[in-house]
Amino acid sequence: ISSVELTQQFLDRIKQEDGRFNSFITLTEEQALADAKAADEQRAAGNATPWTGVPFAHKDIFCTNGVRTTCGSKMLENFVPPYDATVTENFRKAGAVCLGKTNMDEFAMGSSTESSYFGATTNPWGLGEGEKRVPGGSSGGSAAAVAARLVPAATATDTGGSIRQPAALCGITGLKPTYGRVSRYGMIAFASSLDQGGTMARTAEDNALMLNVMAGFDPKDSTSIDRAVPDYTATLNEPLKGLKIGLPKEYFSDQLSPTMEEQVRNAVKEYEKLGATVKEVSLPNAKLAIAAYYVIAPAEASANLSRFDGARYGYRCDDPKDLMDMYTRTRAEGFGTEVKRRILVGTYALSAGYFDAYYLKAQKVRRLIQQDFINAFKEVDVLMSPTSPSPAFVQGEKTNDPVTMYLEDIFTIAVNLAGVPAMSVPAGFVNGLPVGLQIIGDYFSEARLLNAAHQFQ
Ligand code: GLN
Repeated sequence: ISSVELTQQFLDRIKQEDGRFNSFITLTEEQALADAKAADEQRAAGNATPWTGVPFAHKDIFCTNGVRTTCGSKMLENFVPPYDATVTENFRKAGAVCLGKTNMDEFAMGSSTESSYFGATTNPWGLGEGEKRVPGGSSGGSAAAVAARLVPAATATDTGGSIRQPAALCGITGLKPTYGRVSRYGMIAFASSLDQGGTMARTAEDNALMLNVMAGFDPKDSTSIDRAVPDYTATLNEPLKGLKIGLPKEYFSDQLSPTMEEQVRNAVKEYEKLGATVKEVSLPNAKLAIAAYYVIAPAEASANLSRFDGARYGYRCDDPKDLMDMYTRTRAEGFGTEVKRRILVGTYALSAGYFDAYYLKAQKVRRLIQQDFINAFKEVDVLMSPTSPSPAFVQGEKTNDPVTMYLEDIFTIAVNLAGVPAMSVPAGFVNGLPVGLQIIGDYFSEARLLNAAHQFQ
């Protein structure tokens, strides 16, 4: 099959099916077919990479030269970047064919893809019961598109769980790499010290192929780490005999329903059959992760989002009376409720009188959480837990209660505060809805995580 045929097939499928899911914000049909044609020529000339002519999609947070990049916000509804993110450029250079940009929570703030200015995304799972469920978030568009087989792979980002939680809720495989492994250049910033680009696909093998293209040092990102990139597919088949698995006892608490726990424990048993050993470990400060995150992430967001003022680029209100009126109305009209809530919380936490009490305190807690992981990885190779406390919930169920929504991240957020890599792998079903197993590794252990996930699949 040629890339043009394959691309056409996926585009047709998106046009037929995506009305039900709303997983795409923008479809780049013409560009995709032109890229596919060029890829077929490259292949014929013997210049193919593993990605030449392969269709995929980008989360609409990655800047794409000449293609509108909205970040799920009215603020960027008509923003067409004049440059590519490094991640975008890497896929382009590898000859991959981008079909379009996927839906997401506004500025990646959320766990359900309901806060998008372009409407909520619906999870392909659970539709049979007549109830529309969330795909998780913020990368819910990418996750739903992969789950509905509208694309074989999609990029995503994870600041507090936005790759792993939607991957779990949609029954696919996702990887958040070590902070600094994938360039953040051209990836619209939410909380810069936590944001990390990563991968979503059906299998660990496909995630490995994606990471091969995405990982690497980038001088344009000051937090990018200069370290050799292995071939992540090379070690997928290593035997797991002797792998030491730790189960953090704080992640198997009363908050976890017995049916969810059973699925996760069954998955761990499969690993034992593959020769792994299992022991309980402790992350004593894990319980503080949500509180610390919801100070640090909004603080950084309030600084990052100050650039959207109507003067530089993006949305500007109609007929401003003066400069102040332009700033205030532009921001009042351009941002949605959740984004405003974060800006308010973040500005408060950073203000002179409260900085020590909130922001500084949260940074200290963050260091303790990081130390917990460092200690755990002296004892074991990987940690395993559920990815989310429950399977996909019904749309609208948590939208009026931000704190319940924030609790969706209870098992994922500590990982971002520490900067370590983690995956979510499909691990069975509860009430017909997919459940994810989270596998957490030490810094730069992506190859080991992918290996562990691949052996399980
Ligand atoms: N749900 C978390 C939040 O709302 C994480 C989002 C993310 O990882 N981008 O901040």
